[in-house]
Amino acid sequence: MTLEPLPETDLTRHRRLREQGSLDRADLDAILDAGFVCHLGVVVEGRPLVVPTVYGRDERRLYLHGSVASRSLAGGMPVCVTVTHVDGLVLARSVFEHGVNYRSAMIHGEARKVTDPGEKAEGLRRLTEHATPGQWSYARQPDRKELAATTLLALSLEEASVKIRTGPPGDGDGPDAELGLWAGTLPLTSVWGTPVPDPPLPPDMPVPEHIARRGGTRHG
Ligand SMILES: Cc1cc2nc3c(=O)[nH]c(=O)nc-3n(C[C@H](O)[C@H](O)[C@H](O)COP(=O)(O)OP(=O)(O)OC[C@H]3O[C@@H](n4cnc5c(N)ncnc54)[C@H](O)[C@@H]3O)c2cc1C
Repeated sequence: MTLEPLPETDLTRHRRLREQGSLDRADLDAILDAGFVCHLGVVVEGRPLVVPTVYGRDERRLYLHGSVASRSLAGGMPVCVTVTHVDGLVLARSVFEHGVNYRSAMIHGEARKVTDPGEKAEGLRRLTEHATPGQWSYARQPDRKELAATTLLALSLEEASVKIRTGPPGDGDGPDAELGLWAGTLPLTSVWGTPVPDPPLPPDMPVPEHIARRGGTRHG
């Protein structure tokens, strides 16, 4: 199936470092699927607020959740959400040419507060499953009181942009190559650790398979 390219709008059009931009929606999907923490940027009472928070998604929208008391989750206002994966440092001969290898996505839109109970439950399921596949059906699901204390926002993935930098520094064929300095990249990888049981658990209680199998696997 061919996916529609990402739209180039006034908001999403790259102005700087354009060569790192991608209009491939599959790149957006891969970046969103590789992470579970985003940064939600929103103006609250006239001041910008950037809030780290977890997310889930379906094919067309991102879901964000939190306390009904969160001012950043009021909904009905423009937001900008970023998801970032750092793949390494780019160490060049000159400080000016230093950089970061990364994959990042930025989503612009108006977040909508989800009020339909069915969509709210489904959005929360997706959010839980996105961070820990298998956990929605393993853990106790939210009751009415907990649902009432939780805000769920939905944000369309339509107006989104992607930027990706890979590869070595850019000064290998410039005048600074004559300096004789080491240059290259220092890769960075995140790996899930070994699950640590909650102390009150019986010592012989096995770790559920859907959690145990992630130990040692790569994140990001
Ligand atoms: C981990 C990391 C570190 C970075 N460090 C630096 C740094 O030190 N200095 C620096 O100048 N740049 C850095 N960048 C790149 C930075 O994110 C911007 O892309 C770049 O600075 C251009 O910013 P701008 O305001 O001119 O964007 P513009 O090109 O004016 O942005 C226009 C539109 O392009 C899209 N866009 C811009 N940046 C991104 C992005 N990163 N991901 C997805 N869409 C994007 C957005 O939709 C935005 O509205 C870094 C990126 C990452 C992920």
